[in-house]
Amino acid sequence: MADIIRLLPDHVANQIAAGEVVQRPASVVKELLENAIDAQSTDIKLIVKDGGKTLIQVVDNGIGMSDTDARLSFERHATSKIQKAEDLFNLHTKGFRGEALASIAAIAHVEMMTRIAEDEVGTHIKIEGSRVISQEVAVVPKGTSMMVKNLFFNIPARRNFLKSDQVEFRHITDEFHRVALAHPQVSFSFYNNGSEVFNLPANDFRKRIVQIFGRKTNEKLVPVNEETQVVKITGYVQKPEFAKKSRGEQFFFANDRFIKSPYLHHAVLGAFEGLIKPGMHPGYFICLEVDPATIDINIHPTKTEVKFDDEHTLYAYLKSTIKHSLGQFNVAPSLDFEKDQNLETPYDFRDKAVSLPSITVDSSFNPFEKSGTNNASGYSRQPSAKGWESIYHGLERKLPQRDIGILEMESEGINNTIFDTSVETQESVTTTFQLRKKYIVSTIKSGMLIINQSRAHQRVLYERFLKNITIKEAVSQQLLFPLNLNFTRGEISILKEIKESLCAVGFVFGDITPETVEVKGVPVVVTESEVQMVMEQLISDFQMEVAEDSFSQVDMLAKTLAKTLSVKTGEVLDDRSQVGLVNDLFACKESALSPFNKRTYTTITETDIDRKFI
Ligand code: ADP
Ligand code: MG
Repeated sequence: MADIIRLLPDHVANQIAAGEVVQRPASVVKELLENAIDAQSTDIKLIVKDGGKTLIQVVDNGIGMSDTDARLSFERHATSKIQKAEDLFNLHTKGFRGEALASIAAIAHVEMMTRIAEDEVGTHIKIEGSRVISQEVAVVPKGTSMMVKNLFFNIPARRNFLKSDQVEFRHITDEFHRVALAHPQVSFSFYNNGSEVFNLPANDFRKRIVQIFGRKTNEKLVPVNEETQVVKITGYVQKPEFAKKSRGEQFFFANDRFIKSPYLHHAVLGAFEGLIKPGMHPGYFICLEVDPATIDINIHPTKTEVKFDDEHTLYAYLKSTIKHSLGQFNVAPSLDFEKDQNLETPYDFRDKAVSLPSITVDSSFNPFEKSGTNNASGYSRQPSAKGWESIYHGLERKLPQRDIGILEMESEGINNTIFDTSVETQESVTTTFQLRKKYIVSTIKSGMLIINQSRAHQRVLYERFLKNITIKEAVSQQLLFPLNLNFTRGEISILKEIKESLCAVGFVFGDITPETVEVKGVPVVVTESEVQMVMEQLISDFQMEVAEDSFSQVDMLAKTLAKTLSVKTGEVLDDRSQVGLVNDLFACKESALSPFNKRTYTTITETDIDRKFI
């Protein structure tokens, strides 16, 4: 057989490499921003159009390139950052593999203008799909401007795989945040489709965090500081009471590079143990400085997964440092004289007279009694000094009782097969009892019906919201005083994406600024105190599971609302609510399953019971 092995032509090799380096527009943004940082720029501008699909441009004021370098930079393995293998163990730059520009140029239309300080004129190069179209002398400012147009123009399969502009824009924003946070001393601006998204003057780390995540963030931060022989740890964690349902603001930087580390993340969680509720996520911005020789960055082409020599020690230091910081903050909360006390008060209590704290003693309390009578009505709702969370908590627990009361769905739909039309049916629907604050038990002709209260209520709410959204007949209640809620810019942009659907279920919005939302009305099943919680949950769900088309957006919204607002296990339901829930469930189109495909009820027949008595 003849020889069959051949060397791949460069442009093919570059396209293959591009598959690893460039997954989506955000990957290009990351590489270009990092090149600009490596070029010692102090001012960097990012411009994108249509989620980066049509244009990504990064303009810097860094060292620029000579005309030979400009041409060479697009070759594979062309880099100015390392020369020999040993240099890999002493990295001070973001890039070093010399493949980003070659990869990008293989799959896009690229135009670069660059000039070094010593030269009076610079270079203008055009490359399309690895082919140099032109290189000319040009009068350009010092520094480099890289324009990447029509990404994946020659790989339709990859181009079709890209998500909507909004989703791609969100990924780009994430990358922008990471680089901008890692380099607060550099000023950044960011434009999307012609409008300014961020304008961040050079600053310190804390102020950069606040610039990006909003004014409100400042008061949430607790500083973390520790220097040991192995590592220097600096940065901030967010106070436990600001933990969120979504993973949101969690950042590790190792030697000024954003990294992902599930292992170190675990260390942070360990430090927060006991301070936040399960399922809640703390926010953190942690910078680690280690000797470059003790960290391997080259284990993955995108360089966000790294390997530390002594991860165990790092884990232990990190956990104890954060614990210590949180402890100190708890013992002596840092006084902040600039703080506006008004902003500190939960909105329900703002401008209201201060009432003296009082302690209610339950004289009938018996610590040895197993199943206590601590139902919702026994819940003390004195505004505690601990702040809003506990206040919400009380309302949350109390809610469903009343909630079910208003539900009152039309019951003509009760023709479900498990109920007979006989007299007994009537009886069975009105006779219910609650088992272990979790199930509703009722009798039916063939025996016994057991309903999971939480799942059943999810189904009822889910169908109701879906109907509201599709036929746009939602009933909303106007708030007497509109609420002004704070969110991060990222959250607000998600909110804008789903705004239309939210309005369809009954939310009414006023002004939306980059960091606040005015809520003027809410769906009838949502109470004022729940609004923030519900909106946070919605945003976090959308962040996690990016809904593509409008159908899945509507479906997701209905699911999230149903999950958040449904009666939970552990809540006591009065007789009327129990009966209401059973009736509502069987008026549903798909009563047997929750929106998350779990069984809502089961039956035990008389024969089943008889068998137990044999
Ligand atoms: P790497 O960053 O891994 O070296 P790249 O393909 O990203 O590889 O870039 C190749 C080279 O081009 C860099 O090593 C650098 O010398 C030069 N370069 C790229 N972008 C810039 C820029 N914005 N300013 C100055 N030089 C740059
Ligand atoms: Mg690079």
